[in-house]
Amino acid sequence: MPIALLSEDVSSLIAAGEVVERPVSVVKELIENSLDAAAHHIEVKIEGAPGTSIEVADDGTGIPAAEIALAATRHATSKVRTAEDLGDIHTLGFRGEALASMAAVSRMELVSREGLEPIATRLVMEPGSAPVIRPAGAPPGTAVRVRDLFFNVPARRKFLRSDETERRRIQTLVARYALAYPDVRFRLILEGKTVLETTGRGDRREALGAVVGTDLARQFLPLPETESGGITVEGFVSPLSVHRSNRREITLFVNGRWIQDAGLTTAVTQAYRSLLMVGRFPMAVIHLHVPPDHVDVNVHPAKTEIRLRDPEKVFALVQRVVRATLLRQGPHDVDLDLARPRTWTETRSDPLPGGGSTWEARAAASAVGPIADPTQHVLIPPGEIPLLRLVGQVGSAYLVAEGPDGLYLIDQHAAHERVLFEGMMESVRAGGVASQALLEAAHVELAAPHASLLNSQLGTLGALGFDLESFGGTTFLVRAVPALLGGLDPAAALRSVVEDFEEDETPLGAEVEARLAARVCKRAAVKAGQVLSLAEQAELLRTLEACASPRTCPHGRPTMIHLSVETLERQFGRRG
Ligand code: ADP
Ligand code: MG
Repeated sequence: MPIALLSEDVSSLIAAGEVVERPVSVVKELIENSLDAAAHHIEVKIEGAPGTSIEVADDGTGIPAAEIALAATRHATSKVRTAEDLGDIHTLGFRGEALASMAAVSRMELVSREGLEPIATRLVMEPGSAPVIRPAGAPPGTAVRVRDLFFNVPARRKFLRSDETERRRIQTLVARYALAYPDVRFRLILEGKTVLETTGRGDRREALGAVVGTDLARQFLPLPETESGGITVEGFVSPLSVHRSNRREITLFVNGRWIQDAGLTTAVTQAYRSLLMVGRFPMAVIHLHVPPDHVDVNVHPAKTEIRLRDPEKVFALVQRVVRATLLRQGPHDVDLDLARPRTWTETRSDPLPGGGSTWEARAAASAVGPIADPTQHVLIPPGEIPLLRLVGQVGSAYLVAEGPDGLYLIDQHAAHERVLFEGMMESVRAGGVASQALLEAAHVELAAPHASLLNSQLGTLGALGFDLESFGGTTFLVRAVPALLGGLDPAAALRSVVEDFEEDETPLGAEVEARLAARVCKRAAVKAGQVLSLAEQAELLRTLEACASPRTCPHGRPTMIHLSVETLERQFGRRG
């Protein structure tokens, strides 16, 4: 075929495909329009299979009658005028394509009344027919109804997932906007049933409660609003006791726009590094406020991708704020019900008298509102665990201890790994890990992949107390091993460090040094099944208390389980 310009009908269908990908895209664009119109109340109504009827009504500024016809024209917008404006966007919309795109792939009806006008105007559009504009009766604001989505695009219809999936996407989307705009009253009605409703009272945690449930919302940790270089971060993250099998519940907003960004998501998961088990992910709602000229939102028609001018700085800020918030939390708690805010002060009467309570604990049920500020459960100073009184060892694997707030069961192997790991990393920083010279240098031959890993990490292994040199091929000459592994045969010591290294999912990120150190410590730590003397048990507890992150082993597993006094009382039927 010779080259020819596409007809308006065809080109608008093509363009529409990028903006309106599926039913949820309609909901998204309409909600964004309502928010741009400063609505206080937004109601979303879905009837029939998603796409059959989608209606979004708001009480925003409305569209002047004279501009209605233009509103659904492609590239018609009230939000930007000049090329410079594109670098300084303060609205969610700016492309002037959404209404036109919907009109191209559905039967669309828009009723709008600007506040000052006496009556509303109705615009009815259907592909292939001329738009119809009529006066109508309606309150100030705008209501858009999209019916029979993709009725003229069978190819697209075929790709829609099940109705259930589409409904869930819509629910998730409305929930996200409800989280980002706590000042706006949102209501989502699915098949005549209200499935989500927020109050619009402006309380972010209350909105969170409407979305994730009040019980869970109470446990979320608020990020202290933090500003750095003009960028502000705030929001909520899940405590260590709440985690998911995927990253989907990490929700990000930049300047009130819900966005998807792998880098920022990683910044959040990295903040949980070594605090959550491998394969588990946090939930989070992160709000970033960035000067409009620091962010480009004109990346894709769906506007869920952005480019930041200085991504590294933003990632670092997010990671730092989330991490600091987590480290301020208490130990792993078997009683997941952290909802009840508790605070206490503790004083220790040093030195430890053998037995008896060693602190005066004051548990204060603080009088906070129904949805408490969980900064209230900063039970103990940042990253620390309370002072524990040793009770003994059970099953040759666990230590039992009493804390100001109940019983602690400590996994001796995990705890020892943590203690050794922090000690080793401290020595690395101080410039030298104690190493033990072998009486006679040993030749160790390794499998090829292990050998190449070793060759690439000779320097790091040197810092960790190994003294070795490549002896050609896959053979190494070992002169010294870390003192922690002094009791081992040098070949075993070396293998324990490099074997399965590639599959190792220790959440220590790219820090090869920390990962290698964690492996040395794992090998050296006391094992389950090892009987410890009372002195050894006490020493382990004391050194664990002194750790910076005593609650998990370097591989992210918990070192301890806490049974609160409340849990015990409940289990014994002493309280309801
Ligand atoms: P954009 O939002 O990118 O400007 P749209 O096609 O979504 O493009 O909307 C076109 C225009 O119609 C908007 O710029 C705005 O002026 C007007 N408009 C759309 N929806 C609403 C609404 N709910 N309330 C007030 N005005 C609206
Ligand atoms: Mg828009």
